[in-house]
Amino acid sequence: MRTLGLLGGMAWPSTLAAYRTINQGIAARLGGAPSARLVLWSVDFAEVEAHQRAGAWEAAGALLADASRRLEGAGAEGLLLCTNTMHRVADAIEAATDIPLLHIADATAAAVTSAGVQRVGLLGTRFTMEQGFYRDRVAAHGIEVVVPPAPQRDAVHRIIYDELIQGRTTAASRTAYLEVIEDLAAQGCQGVIAGCTEIELLLGPEDIDLAWFPTTRLHAEHAVTWMLAPGLPR
Ligand code: GLU
Repeated sequence: MRTLGLLGGMAWPSTLAAYRTINQGIAARLGGAPSARLVLWSVDFAEVEAHQRAGAWEAAGALLADASRRLEGAGAEGLLLCTNTMHRVADAIEAATDIPLLHIADATAAAVTSAGVQRVGLLGTRFTMEQGFYRDRVAAHGIEVVVPPAPQRDAVHRIIYDELIQGRTTAASRTAYLEVIEDLAAQGCQGVIAGCTEIELLLGPEDIDLAWFPTTRLHAEHAVTWMLAPGLPR
């Protein structure tokens, strides 16, 4: 089994879910006592969030590059960045070490493609919905990506930062997200990417009629496959 380095704490509730899913995946594939060989670097999210708000992506990249080097030094053979948004600085992370970064957008796009979905809605932080780093990477797999209009993007973003990153979920937020998803369906989307790692704490496949792509779960399952397949490229 390969050792995986988790860049976590962005925010901590989804890192917890990723840790659980990876361990469950390893146990399910191998059976019995095995658990995942992991190294975790969990950041202080307040520092990351301040950089995001200031648009200081270079500083954010430097922070995660430093964490990546520490994970590599601790024995990690690959990296899992447990957030969609911070893939904005994937280049800085990749440049900092000699080990692969398992990109969350690629793991997600592979699931969208294998579900036969061609037009998909994307929910996430404003950065993820509005900047090209994520949408373009999914679109490069031949998938059409639709984001909600500005007022809905604001609401989706606000709920992530005011509630979900603190592990809080409310009925009102669930309703707000379901309304956004209904509008995406009306625009012909066949599925929805939960493109913030905390969204799947709020909603599950049982809540919606469209195909559901929960990025924490998909990324973690991709990681399990990579950990158990030494010949597999990133
Ligand atoms: N976990 C979230 C994401 O997947 C948001 C927190 C962050 O900005 O990293 O984008």
